[in-house]
Parts: sequence; structure tokens; C-alpha cells
Amino acid sequence: MHAKLAAALFGGTCFLCRGAARAPLCAACDADLPRLAGPLCPRCALGSPSGELCGRCLAEAPHYDATVAALAYRFPADALVHALKFRGELALVSLFGNLLLQKIPADQAVDCVIPVPLSPHRLRERGYNQALEIARHVKPGKIDLTACVRQGNAPPQTGLPLEERQRNVRGAFRCTRSLAGARVAVLDDVMTTGATLDEMARTLKGSGAAHVVNWVVCRTPADV
Ligand SMILES: [Zn+2]
Ligand SMILES: [Zn+2]
Repeated sequence: MHAKLAAALFGGTCFLCRGAARAPLCAACDADLPRLAGPLCPRCALGSPSGELCGRCLAEAPHYDATVAALAYRFPADALVHALKFRGELALVSLFGNLLLQKIPADQAVDCVIPVPLSPHRLRERGYNQALEIARHVKPGKIDLTACVRQGNAPPQTGLPLEERQRNVRGAFRCTRSLAGARVAVLDDVMTTGATLDEMARTLKGSGAAHVVNWVVCRTPADV
């Protein structure tokens, strides 16, 4: 039944090579995905020689406590993310969701999962929030859509250098209630410099969150 449903959704062809597939990707393309391999810094998911906290996190600790990332943000992961985000290829949600589920440690209990909110303007434009769709696949019972909202219509981060990203995103989120003692997972499709996720974690901790972990599908490597 599951295979039949998948074939109906995906048309039975691999999203990347158009070969026969019973999932969004055929087995060969799936095996070729740029999965992030260790050792990684547990806090920011960038490469770290011994798998310890990296120099950047030691020098200036981000507000989030940990990051789980499935793929390196390079071809074809970037093309897949674009297809989900800008071409409405919602069939890719299950692929991304499963990749994340494979990476999230079984003992990483969280009280709630907050998909990074889109601005109301962007949400209207796109019609859906890709982070929420992925969260629905990863932990449907724990999603919290009201605890943290985006305020204002900050311009997109794309193309901005780190310092400008940090300025651009400052004050972008607002908590609507106390999160005292909560362990929160913040879910997003791509983590680039981490400026947005850092601001989100800062806001959540400002409302009392005890622990914030990022669950991201793709992580931009440090040298990009
Ligand atoms: Zn393929
Ligand atoms: Zn780090």
C-alpha cells in the first residue's frame, strides 16, 4: 500500500535521474546524496577535527545548544531544496523528513518542535511553509505554531554576508508565551551562516527555553 501510494505521488520516477523509483529518489541517487559525515561540531554541525566544540563556537557561543543536520548544502541537495521551496514539489517533504529522522538521536527528547516561521507576506506568496511541512513528517505530535512568531517583513537573507545577516534578522521573532524550562527543537530546511537560527534561539531562551536544538535538512559547509 505504501509503495503504491508513493508511486502515485512521485509518478514512479526518480526526481533527479528520472529512472524508475518507488520513492522521490531511486536507490542510486539516494545513495549519492551529500550526507554530512563526521566529525562535526555538536553545536553548529560544521566540521571539527575531533568532533569537539569547534573554534568558532568556543570563541563566540551561539544561543542554540546543538545542531542536527542531514546533508551538505550542495548539489543535488540544493536543487532539491529549491524544488520544494519554489516549485511546490511537496513530494520531497518525505525524503527530507526521513533524512532528518535518520540523524536525530533517539534520546534527544524535546517538548516541542517549532518550524522557523515565514513572514505572513512570504507565507501568502508561497502558500506553505516548507519547514512546517517537514516538521509534520518528523514529529507531527509536537509541533507548536503559536509559541514563536515572525514579526515584520525582513528582506530575505540570501546573498547577505554574515554581519548583515545578523543585523537583518535581529528582532525578527517574538515569543507569545513563556517557554520556561522547555526543550525546543527548531526545524528549518537550510542552515547557512546560522544567523537566523541563532536569533530564533536567542528569542526562545529569552522566553525561558532551557535547551534549543536545530534540526536542519541541509548545512552549508564552512568554506562557502
Ligand atoms: Zn535517480
Ligand atoms: Zn561549532
